[in-house]
Amino acid sequence: MSENIDWSSLGFGYVPTEFNVRCTYSNGEWGELRVMEDPTINLHISAAVLHYAQECFEGLKAFRGVDGKVRIFRIEENGKRLQDSCRGIKMPELPLDKFQEAILKVVKLNEKFIPPYGSGASLYIRPVLFGTTPLVGVKPATEFEFVVFVTPVGPYFKGGFQATPFMLSRKYDRAAPLGTGSLKVGGNYAAGMTATVDSHDLGYSAVFYLDPKEKKYIDECGAANFFAIKGNSYITPKSSSILPSITNKSLSILAEDLGMTVERRPIAVEELSTFDEAGACGTAAVISPVSKIVDIDNNHIYEFSKDGKPGEKCTALYNKLRAIQHGEEEDTHGWITFLD
Ligand SMILES: *Cc1c(COP(=O)(O)O)cnc(C)c1O
Repeated sequence: MSENIDWSSLGFGYVPTEFNVRCTYSNGEWGELRVMEDPTINLHISAAVLHYAQECFEGLKAFRGVDGKVRIFRIEENGKRLQDSCRGIKMPELPLDKFQEAILKVVKLNEKFIPPYGSGASLYIRPVLFGTTPLVGVKPATEFEFVVFVTPVGPYFKGGFQATPFMLSRKYDRAAPLGTGSLKVGGNYAAGMTATVDSHDLGYSAVFYLDPKEKKYIDECGAANFFAIKGNSYITPKSSSILPSITNKSLSILAEDLGMTVERRPIAVEELSTFDEAGACGTAAVISPVSKIVDIDNNHIYEFSKDGKPGEKCTALYNKLRAIQHGEEEDTHGWITFLD
């Protein structure tokens, strides 16, 4: 129960909450939202999702603000991206209003699991949508289930905001040049599992993937987007095989607010040596500053921080985004939805 949760020592794992919200698609339409307490699903052994990975998901967060109000960050962007993912793997799009209603409902129902302001913890919201039709031949399902559950997650940086080492290797791809890299689908994660485990085994936070076509440009790092700081510029890769991170999009806008120039263009590996700061970004950590990138194929190190201290611009961007999420700074871009 929530009374027994030690918010500050929470990790990023599944902590049981009380309710989840579901919606079923059948006969060509989405039904009504249902509230469930049961965290399990009854699924046919031949369901499309189990065999052909017809599945996509989202990840967003709710925060308890300095004023006690609950803020959900960029619901609409997440809803649109879920629709993009659905279109990309032949699943029916969930209407945006239904998505938003489901998120607000599940957060409200589990309100007591929203960590208090100042704990560094937040409520992670995980929508998932998948094909349930029993089939054996490869084709899209005709029935789908949308589920959204929440779970409290701890501060990403236990010892404070810190830079960590990453590795770069040409041995792995998470996506194909014309594949599903730009969609938030579970299949991409299965494809990257070996790289993830290998990088952790070697003591790195994650792997940098290069563009799968030419293996020349930076794509993503693990399940996060990449950005770099060079002078007064915020530079992030342009590629058709990366997942468009909403955190990255938000940081780009904040960088402009801070008077920086934003460049979205291909970044060749060698250009890493010209950057002042580097970071991985995503909902989980906002920014995970990069201390160094070790190109393990060429035994070359690109260093951004010698003492593990994040750079000045990374820190400013991180603080600004977190301040908006926690209501310490005004949301001038309309990114926040309040829970009533
Ligand atoms: C979810 C995800 C990200 C980060 O996206 P956010 O919207 O910022 O959380 C980056 N890369 C991949 C592959 C992802 O799945």
